[in-house]
Amino acid sequence: MSITDQNPALRFKRPLLKLSGEALMGGASYGIDPSALQRFAGEIAELGRSGVQMSVVVGGGNIFRGLAGAAKGMDRVTGDYMGMLATVMNALALGQALRALGQHSRVYSAIPMPTVCAPYQRDAAMADLDAGACVIFAGGTGNPFFTTDTTAALRAAEMGCDAILKATSVDGVYSANPKTDLSAVRYDTITYTEVLAQHLQIMDAAAIAIARDNRIPVLVFSLLKPGNIVKLFTGETPATVISGG
Ligand code: UDP
Repeated sequence: MSITDQNPALRFKRPLLKLSGEALMGGASYGIDPSALQRFAGEIAELGRSGVQMSVVVGGGNIFRGLAGAAKGMDRVTGDYMGMLATVMNALALGQALRALGQHSRVYSAIPMPTVCAPYQRDAAMADLDAGACVIFAGGTGNPFFTTDTTAALRAAEMGCDAILKATSVDGVYSANPKTDLSAVRYDTITYTEVLAQHLQIMDAAAIAIARDNRIPVLVFSLLKPGNIVKLFTGETPATVISGG
C-alpha cells in the first residue's frame, strides 16, 4: 500500500526538512536545548508513524559558523570545517532523540567519520528511506564556502524529495525582514526567479537555484508554534510556497 493510500490527506510523502542550528537552541543562546530537540523529534517521529519518508538536514549555527570565526580573524576554511563538524553534533543528538521515540534513524556525514556515523552514500540513504528510517544528513556538503541550505537542496535532489520544508522563525517569505520593516509584505507563493531577483534572504542563492533546476517546491514556515511541522502536511501551517520558474 502506498503512503498516499494510507494517508491521502498528507501532502508530502518524501520531504526534506531543513532545521537550522538556531532552532535547536530553543530559548538559549548556544548549544542544544533538550526540550526543543524533543519537540522536533516528536513531530518527525509522528510523521514517520504516518508513513512519511523524512530526510533532515541540520545546520550548525547554534555551535559554530565559519563566517563568525573569520570575522574574529580565523582562517575561513578552517572555520567552515568547524561549522560542518558542529552539524554532526546536532545530527547525532537528533538521531538519538528519534531512536528513543522508536523512530529508526541514521546519520550520514558528508565528512567521513565512520566510528561516529555513516559516511554519506546515496544508495544506502535511499534504502534507509525506503525502509522507513529517518535519514539525517550532517557535515553540510563537505565543502567550505557552502551552507546547510545548499546541502538541503542538494540532498533533496539526490533523494528524489517532493518538497523542501525550510523551517524558520517567520511564517513565510516577506519582501523585507518583517521583524525590522513594518512595510514588509508576505507572499503566499513566489517563484524561484523572483526570490533570486529580489535578493530575498530566505535561503542562499545556490540553494534556490538547485531547487529550481530540480523543480522541488520549497515551503517556508515558522517553527515557533509546536505542531507546525506536522500541520504542514495537512495544510494547516501557514507557509510560503516557492515554485514555478
Ligand atoms: N558549512 C560549510 N559547508 C557546508 C555547510 C556548512 O562550510 O556545506 C559550515 C559553515 O561555516 C556554516 C556552518 O557550517 O556557517 C553551519 O552551517 P549553517 O550556517 O548553514 O547552519 P544553520 O544556519 O542552518 O544553523
